Amino acid sequence: MPELPEVETTRKGIAPHIEGKTVRQVIVRQEKLRWPISPEISSLLPNQSITNVRRRAKYLLIETPVGTLIIHLGMSGSLRIVNADTPVEKHEHVDIIFNDNTCLRYKDPRRFGCLLWTASAIDQHKLIEHLGPEPLSDAFEIDDFYQKAQRRKTPIKNLIMDGKVVVGVGNIYACEALFSSGIHPQRVANNISKKRLEKLLHEIKKVLARAIKQGGTTLKDFVNSDGKPGYFQQTLNVYGRHNKPCTTCQSSIKQVTIAQRSSFYCPSCQH
Ligand SMILES: [Zn+2]
Repeated sequence: MPELPEVETTRKGIAPHIEGKTVRQVIVRQEKLRWPISPEISSLLPNQSITNVRRRAKYLLIETPVGTLIIHLGMSGSLRIVNADTPVEKHEHVDIIFNDNTCLRYKDPRRFGCLLWTASAIDQHKLIEHLGPEPLSDAFEIDDFYQKAQRRKTPIKNLIMDGKVVVGVGNIYACEALFSSGIHPQRVANNISKKRLEKLLHEIKKVLARAIKQGGTTLKDFVNSDGKPGYFQQTLNVYGRHNKPCTTCQSSIKQVTIAQRSSFYCPSCQH
């Protein structure tokens, strides 16, 4: 599933190819995604210029003077830049074609993604308005994080994966940040000292920033690629390493299910 670093890498991959360009045509081959594709994308987007490509949580926001296209990649969505004449492959549901024949092509085999339109302020959109702070921004800071943790008797892993606390911390990054900060994933949130939570906050920022940096090496894959979405291999210390030796102490990595998600941790390094 595309996580925040993959979405940010996608943003960086497509932005230089579409910003400042004017949309010539939109082709929708399959409108049934998680929600039906907004009809405005076909009716209003042509003849508009792309003023900015932003990201909020895992939403890509493609801005024009008359409204914003909101794209979520769901479980299996990807975007790539091709020449508009490039033959269409299976599951390539939408083409946004620009005046210079550049095409932003959306592929989504499982169709859990979405393409929606809003003419209102993006911060007031129902998918966006209740989101917590961006993990890499200064808005994700220790005093607010500590206050939120104090109010919750939930495992710390659930807290950091709650989009109202901080957005974009997926399962892989939650496991890795908890390992780096030495905190057991099942430890109750309001029972962790401010100092340890501060360490966790910094490790969340670090693991996401590192993944985005790694993603930067794949940016060329967004142009005329063979359909690979341009995601990248992470260096993982615990995630997916059940029964393998801890990279720090050689103990066997354990796996436990928390809130229906597999969690991986070192029983010696994390407490
Ligand atoms: Zn260990």
